[in-house]
Amino acid sequence: MFDSLSDRLGNVFDRLKGRGALSEGDVREAMREIRIALLEADVALPVVRRFIDAVTEKAIGSDVLKSVTPGQQVVKIVDDELTAMLGGGEDADPKDRELNFAAKPPVVIMMVGLQGSGKTTTTAKLGKLIREKHGKKALMASLDVNRPAAQEQLKVLGEQVDVATLPIVEGQQPVDIARRAMDSAKLQSADVLLLDTAGRLHVDEALMAEMKAIAGVSAPTEVLLVVDSLTGQDAVNVAQSFTGEVPLTGVVLTRMDGDARGGAALSMRYVTGKPIKFAGTGEKLDAIEAFDPKRVAGRILGMGDVVSLVEKAAATIKQDEAEALAKKMAKGQFDLDDLRMQLKQMQNMGGLGMLAGMMPGMKKAKAAMAASNMDDRVLLHMDAIIGSMTPKERKNPALLNAKRKKRVAAGSGTQVQEVNKVLKMHQEMSRAMKQIKKMGGLKGLGALFG
Ligand code: GDP
Repeated sequence: MFDSLSDRLGNVFDRLKGRGALSEGDVREAMREIRIALLEADVALPVVRRFIDAVTEKAIGSDVLKSVTPGQQVVKIVDDELTAMLGGGEDADPKDRELNFAAKPPVVIMMVGLQGSGKTTTTAKLGKLIREKHGKKALMASLDVNRPAAQEQLKVLGEQVDVATLPIVEGQQPVDIARRAMDSAKLQSADVLLLDTAGRLHVDEALMAEMKAIAGVSAPTEVLLVVDSLTGQDAVNVAQSFTGEVPLTGVVLTRMDGDARGGAALSMRYVTGKPIKFAGTGEKLDAIEAFDPKRVAGRILGMGDVVSLVEKAAATIKQDEAEALAKKMAKGQFDLDDLRMQLKQMQNMGGLGMLAGMMPGMKKAKAAMAASNMDDRVLLHMDAIIGSMTPKERKNPALLNAKRKKRVAAGSGTQVQEVNKVLKMHQEMSRAMKQIKKMGGLKGLGALFG
């Protein structure tokens, strides 16, 4: 999915990250390339414009270019904007992407879209999801009298997912079927009624009139537009046609398992003003996922780890603290208070497992930790041990003789052996830090934390 877009953005970012300093011109140049990459991925033009403007303003109009890691900061800004474009911005409520069941049962979910978009399959997938995940009783009805055997198809799928379907009455028209489905759902005390409407090969007036009439008799709580993510700009046009004609509440993107270029996904939120609620990821009836803007943005960028690292580091580590620490290390003054701060930060960053592989420069320090058999629980013990030392001992670990170690062990509820481990680790980390310093200098060290 999104392979070519990912590759192109990856190239732009590699160049950005490779530089220690970035000028405004560098950023503008990168934005030109990103603009082309997005257009080639079939993202709608107004969406591309808005995106590029937002990223450029944020990248140039702040302290980003002056920071220790400007390239990574720009990547982070692009990631944030992509996430927002996909409906996961800070002002977006994740609840809006969930199915809305807040109506008197039967809650009606109406599925609309072109023929072949995956509407019937998605209806069955949702039926299964509603039964299994939400524990609700659903009834499904096909209102598609255009396509031969469409109603039969839903019936077969219903049997596969163990969700009831409305019995087929030959010759009945869509609005009448909708009415009958409502009655039947009430009679069966179904919680949810899924209406699979007819599609056409193209959007036309007759189709829209039919959708409006069906919505009129069934008062749907959800009207989900199903679009094929492989169709790019066409999907955008379809979305545009439906928006305003029927009261859409959300979008389902199908065939996200294929090699979609990204245009449909990235444009949909802007064009419809509605959240993408689900992604279809295969032909199987459980191949449907809640749409997660952040994850999809990460996949497009193909660098979720770098982005989340920068995010976590920014959230947990203050730049000036990091610089002060880097200076101390450079002077060989890394004491147990500093070690404790490091341990805290590691905990905040999700423990040792999270760190693995994220910070290339931390490999040596990590190896030292691995050698001392550390796991995340151990971080807490270590914190308690250091906390039981006097400030003097923390500044000068050499003071810790056998008697003092015993006191610290008792105070922290641990054993002398563990106190020794902390001291050993401090020694090894000091050594590793010195080596990192040799590898990348003070700036390299700062870059690890800032
Ligand atoms: P409808 O005409 O809109 O009702 O489309 P269908 O539900 O009949 O789907 C058309 C074809 O697309 C079927 O062969 C489905 O199995 C397939 N399909 C639907 N959704 C997905 C999906 O998310 N991924 C893949 N790979 N195929 C899908």
